[in-house]
Amino acid sequence: MFSIPKLLVLVALILVVLYGFRIAGSLNRRRQQREAAPDPTPEKKRERERLEAEDLVQCPKCGAYVSAGADHECRRQA
Ligand SMILES: [Zn+2]
Repeated sequence: MFSIPKLLVLVALILVVLYGFRIAGSLNRRRQQREAAPDPTPEKKRERERLEAEDLVQCPKCGAYVSAGADHECRRQA
């Protein structure tokens, strides 16, 4: 027969397992919601692509390729 302390430990373990399952379930649900989210609008997509890909231009003085909009200081004077 179970003694009272063993029974309490068993109940505690069951609660921990149930709580863990609930946390895992909510995390899983949140991830599925994120994956099921609608695609960004074409405008937002284009904007993100524009930010991810920057045009590089070759510096006429030192030949280094630098991003077009950025201020560039030549390290090596030609
Ligand atoms: Zn330069």
